[in-house]
Amino acid sequence: MVRGRISRLSVHDLRFPTSLEGHGSDAMHTDPDYSAAYVVLETDAEDGLKGCGLTFTLGKGTEVVVCAVNALAPHLLNKDLGDIVGDFRGFYRQLTSDGQLRWIGPEKGAVHLATAAVLNAVWDLWAKQEGKPLWKLLVDMDPRMLLSCIDFRYITDVLTEEEAYEILQKGQVGKKEREEQMQTQGYPAYTTSCAWLGYTDTRLTQLCSEALKDGWTRFKVKVGADLQDDIRRCRLIRNVIGPEKTLMMDANQRWDVPEAVEWMAKLAEFKPLWIEEPTCPDDILGHAAISKALAPLGIGVATGEQCHNRVIFKQLLQAKALQFLQIDSCRLGSVNENLSVLLMAKKFGVPVCPHAGGVGLCELVQHLIIFDFISVSASLKDRMCEYVDHLHEHFKYPVVIRKACYMPPKDAGYSTEMKEESVRQHQYPDGEVWKELLAAQGN
Ligand SMILES: [Mg+2]
Repeated sequence: MVRGRISRLSVHDLRFPTSLEGHGSDAMHTDPDYSAAYVVLETDAEDGLKGCGLTFTLGKGTEVVVCAVNALAPHLLNKDLGDIVGDFRGFYRQLTSDGQLRWIGPEKGAVHLATAAVLNAVWDLWAKQEGKPLWKLLVDMDPRMLLSCIDFRYITDVLTEEEAYEILQKGQVGKKEREEQMQTQGYPAYTTSCAWLGYTDTRLTQLCSEALKDGWTRFKVKVGADLQDDIRRCRLIRNVIGPEKTLMMDANQRWDVPEAVEWMAKLAEFKPLWIEEPTCPDDILGHAAISKALAPLGIGVATGEQCHNRVIFKQLLQAKALQFLQIDSCRLGSVNENLSVLLMAKKFGVPVCPHAGGVGLCELVQHLIIFDFISVSASLKDRMCEYVDHLHEHFKYPVVIRKACYMPPKDAGYSTEMKEESVRQHQYPDGEVWKELLAAQGN
């Protein structure tokens, strides 16, 4: 049973100096400092449980999201948690449709990232109070209750609540076996850790060989800055991993539509499964054109990490603009909006391969994709979840990877809680890590 009234909301600007070593670098984001707007909810309940949530940022601008979280706070403070989750659709809509705040969205940009952070904290608190990891809370939830968390506004032309109910009802068949399968084998993952754009050839070769030894069979490489560099790097990787292993490419929105097609035609010899974010994330018809042009080469299009909301995903699906759908736990409006996208993907028969990495994205999204397999997709065909081996040490319940698979979390909650020491040290600009760094830079 959920309990307590939300008595406090605090939000932290946490930054990790990843740019110092080129971690996370790609064709568009050359020097990211992986960061998070980290929200902690406290209640007046005697259990002392806290709800922790976050959204992912790249350094500068985290202060803007923190500001947006504070602007949303009055919607939560003094609210009964039971009232929130009892009418979660209504509460989601209250947050996203605030008559004044929605002007700086709606359901996109900094204010939507803030919505994600806040709602992720609510889901963490709910799961902790129920004593279950979030994926299990979702798997055990009555389908009607689950659907009552989703705002179907703007998507009923492709998915009504009744159709979603039918999908969930069908998903009940074989659910127990799939849950057991997850417990024993885990959910398949791929690695992005080996081939950031800022890594040298030596480092790239070494990391790929190590990953192979650790049992990884699926690899992603960053491309898009320089064609000759891409050809050299892809050849290098293929030489190390061999022709049979799976290779994906990620251009992080670098190209115009014709450029994407031409560039990928030149990289086709390396047999990529997909090209990720070939162009502007808002260009639905552009993605459709690229998909059509690359289909004869056997290359799919993947996108989603900067997809604003369920409406854009709806249109990408309607336009056949993507062959792999990449949900993001901290970009969309938390679990609520991600549920609607998982259900739409099921209806369109498009595999979901979540975006992860960053700060905590692996910790969060593993819950969603494990739920998806058990209760919605019931399939692992063409499916895998991104994994990046960074910053897990700052989390109280870090991901567990075994034989290149995500093992289902066992601890109650959404795996969002960070260690107090990490929060203290990485506060920007006053945490010890930043005080030292900024002083060294003469600031
Ligand atoms: Mg990407």
